[in-house]
Amino acid sequence: MNGDKGAEIKMSDIADGMVQPFYLTGNNSENKTPLVRGRFARLTRPCQAILARHDYPAAINELCAEAMSLAACLSTTLKFDGVFTLQAKGDGAVQTLFADVTSAGAMRAYAAFDAEKLADIPPTEPAILPRLMGGGYMAFTVDQDAALGDEAHRYQGIVELEGSHLGDCAIAWFKNSEQLAAQIITAASQKADGWHSSALFLQQIAGEGGQHASLSTEELADEWHTAMVMMSSVTRDEMLNLELSPSELLYRLFHSQNIHLQTPRPIIDSCRCSAEKVEQVLSGLSDDQLRELCDENGQLQVACEFCKVNRAYPLAQFVSAQS
Ligand SMILES: [Zn+2]
Repeated sequence: MNGDKGAEIKMSDIADGMVQPFYLTGNNSENKTPLVRGRFARLTRPCQAILARHDYPAAINELCAEAMSLAACLSTTLKFDGVFTLQAKGDGAVQTLFADVTSAGAMRAYAAFDAEKLADIPPTEPAILPRLMGGGYMAFTVDQDAALGDEAHRYQGIVELEGSHLGDCAIAWFKNSEQLAAQIITAASQKADGWHSSALFLQQIAGEGGQHASLSTEELADEWHTAMVMMSSVTRDEMLNLELSPSELLYRLFHSQNIHLQTPRPIIDSCRCSAEKVEQVLSGLSDDQLRELCDENGQLQVACEFCKVNRAYPLAQFVSAQS
């Protein structure tokens, strides 16, 4: 799956990983405008493949798996052509949590952690955010392809790490940036075939001038309340159960609120690293830096922190001949 241009993503890939966008027009069938928008992400293959490659402890796998589903969900709520990145930095056992996904659906992820600090956390404690990451922040970044390096094409939102789960930070971000109510539930679990993760996201939609013509403010509040109640009735098992398709699950939850499914978006495991990019970086280093990197066999070894692919080059290929 690791090519210079990334893997080709096909609609049939949705069986392995996907985001199902949907919206609710509410209980009142007179209303035709979307009142609540939603996303349901379910990742099997990308989650399994990425975590199998990293071989992290279970607590890190769980956090990483949830980050992947969360990134998948959030990326599809934004209109962009490029890369969406979710990055959390903490001062606890987990220092970095990183997941990114392209607008086409190519995903990768990794975590950096302190094994000693992690070992000090009792295994019986649930793997929740403050315990693993301590204090810190979460950043959501969108890098547009259109003009690489152009500040105007980079958007970043930052929130403090808060709440018990990664989703709580995302909710705080929506509250700060869009002033609209949002809710997110994430779930991850290890099964016989590896890790699975899922996320369910709901957000209120602002109508014209903050109003929806055919509905009163009370009715709107009521619709949001009902959507939240239905959302909170979902179980982890339903979210992760492959026997239950995303559309079946969503109809089960939101049928009374007139759910409309939109085109699902495939998410695949695909790294964007390439020999070309690695060689470009090596070419930019000084001879001293290159010698420092070089191993005892005269080789420059560069491993991708995402996909673990290792690339080796003889030192002589990059060191200036005269030095
Ligand atoms: Zn890679």
